[in-house]
Amino acid sequence: MKLIFVTGWAISGLGKWVTSSSIGRLIKSAGKSVWMIKMDPYLQIDAGTMSPYEHGEVFVTQDWGECDLDIWNYERFTDENLAKENNITTWKVYQAVINRERVGWYLWKTVQIVPHITNEIKEQILETAKNYDFTIIEVWGTVWDIESAPFLEAIRQMKKDLWKSNVFYMIVAPLLHLSYSWEVKTKLIQSSVVELRKCWIIPDAIIYRTEVELEEEIKDKLSRTCDICTDAIIEAKNVSTIYKVPEYFNSQNLLKLIWNKLEVSDFKANLNNWNKLVNKITNPKKEVNIWVVWKYTQFQDTYKSISESFIHAWVENNCKVNLVWIDAEKIEKENNVGNENKVGNENFHSLQNILKNISWVLIPGGFWNRWVEWKILTVQYLRENNIPFLWICLWLQVAVIEYARNKCGLLDANSLEFNEKANNLVIDLMEEQKLITEKWWTMRLWSYEAKLKKWSLAEKLYKENNHNSPLAPLFTIEGDNLIITERHRHRYEVNSKYHKILEEKGLVISGKSPNRDLAEFIEIKDHKFFIATQSHPEFKSRLEKPHPLFVGLVKASLDK
Ligand code: GLN
Repeated sequence: MKLIFVTGWAISGLGKWVTSSSIGRLIKSAGKSVWMIKMDPYLQIDAGTMSPYEHGEVFVTQDWGECDLDIWNYERFTDENLAKENNITTWKVYQAVINRERVGWYLWKTVQIVPHITNEIKEQILETAKNYDFTIIEVWGTVWDIESAPFLEAIRQMKKDLWKSNVFYMIVAPLLHLSYSWEVKTKLIQSSVVELRKCWIIPDAIIYRTEVELEEEIKDKLSRTCDICTDAIIEAKNVSTIYKVPEYFNSQNLLKLIWNKLEVSDFKANLNNWNKLVNKITNPKKEVNIWVVWKYTQFQDTYKSISESFIHAWVENNCKVNLVWIDAEKIEKENNVGNENKVGNENFHSLQNILKNISWVLIPGGFWNRWVEWKILTVQYLRENNIPFLWICLWLQVAVIEYARNKCGLLDANSLEFNEKANNLVIDLMEEQKLITEKWWTMRLWSYEAKLKKWSLAEKLYKENNHNSPLAPLFTIEGDNLIITERHRHRYEVNSKYHKILEEKGLVISGKSPNRDLAEFIEIKDHKFFIATQSHPEFKSRLEKPHPLFVGLVKASLDK
C-alpha cells in the first residue's frame, strides 16, 4: 500500500484534481491498482447541501454518496467506481471521534485534535486505501488554510508510521508570469515549499502550473532554493484538453520519479488507447451544435458532468460538439416574468423568438419552481416543433406536466415541488417519503435499476452504444428486456396514478423500476428524438465508456 499526497499552495483553482487524476491514470496504465481519496476539511458531512455556484455540481457515487465534483473527475480518469468513503470530510472524522467519546472509548483521557482527530484521519485513509497498490489523496484548499491543519498533521505523521518508501508528497504551485515585463517569478513556488516545511512535510515533487515554459537555468535555481532535484520539478503548462495531462506528465518521467522514491520496480505506462481517444478530441472530423438550457450561468463547473459527457460522445462520434448555452434566467428576465410564474400562452410567441434557431437540445436537472412555467412552455415548443432533445431529471417531470396539461386535458397538472395546491399532482412524493420529516432523507439517491421497454428508443440507444466490458456490463438482460442502472438525485416521481392516462394519450413510459411502479424513462413515438430520464446518466460517462444517451444524441444530430 503506497500513498501519494497531493497538496496545493497560494491559490485554489490550480488543478490539483487534474494532477491527482492524471497520476491515477498513469499508475493504472502501468498495470497497478489505483484508488483515489479527496479530503475536504469543510464542516458539512458531504457536498449535498452546498451551492453549485460555489462548489460546482454535486456528484453522486454508486453507493449514494453526495460528493464533491472531484470524485467524478477521478472516476472518469481512472475508470473506477468510487464510494462515499473516498471523500473524507471534517464532519465524518469528528462524528466518528465524538460517537466513540460518548460510548466511553476515551475514558479518563482528554480528547484532542492531536492525536484523536489526526488518528481518525489516518485510520479513514488506511481503511479506504487498504486493498490497492497505490492511493492518491488530494488535500482540499491550500496549505495554510486553518481547517486543513489537522489533515496536514495527519499526513505528515504517515511517513513516520508507514516508512518513507510508502509515502510520497507533492505540492502544486503557480509559476508567475509577468506579461508586462515578460519575466517569470518563482517566489510562489519557493514559498510553497517553505509553507509545507512549516508543517514538517518535505515535498518529493513540485508540480508548477504555468502558461510559459521554464528555462533550464531557472529550474536549476528552483532546485537549489527548494532543495529538490530538477527531475522532481514537473511542469504543468496549460494544454488544449485536460485529457492530455497524463501523457504530458509521462513525458517528464513522473512515474519513474514515483517508482524510485517508493522503491517500486520500473513499470512503464501504456497510454496508447487513452492517447488515441485524446487525439480525437483535438482532431475531430465533423462538428455539430447542441443547445443546453442552463440556470447557474456564473459557474461552468455546475454543469461539468454534462459538458464532459459531450466530450466523451464527441470522441465516440469523431465529431466536435459545440455547446450553445441558453441562459434560462435571461429568457425569464427578457419576458418580465418573476418567480410567481405568471406565464400564459400569450408569452408563447416571445419564447418562440428565443428558441426558433435551435435544433438539438439537452436540458440538465435542477431544483425548485423558478422559471417553471417557462420550462413547461419550452417543452411544449420543442415537442410540437419536433425538435430533438434529451431531458434530464427535473425535465422529465416538466415534460410530464406539459403532456398532462396539453395532451391529457389536465389543465392544472403540476408538481408538488412547484405548486402543492394543484389538484392534479402528476409529479409527487412517494407515500413513504411524505412521512419523513428531515428534508435530506427525502432525497432519492443511489443507483437504481430500470427495465426498458422492447423496441423503445431507450433500449435502442443502450444496445447500440454499449462500451462496457463483460466484466462491467452496462445492462443485464431479463427475459425480453434490458435492465440498466443509473445514478439518481431527486425527490419527486411521476405519480403512478397518472401513468395510465399519460400512456393512453401516447406518452411511452419506456423504462420503469423493475420492482416498483416508478417511471424512469419517457419518450414519444412520433417525435424525431424525444427521450427523458429521471436519472443522471452524465455521472457514468467516461472517456473510454461514453454514455449511450449522449452518444445517441450526438449521433442522431449527425444523421439529421
Ligand atoms: N427537483 C426535482 C426533484 O427533486 C429534480 C431534481 C434534479 O433534477 N436532480 O425530484
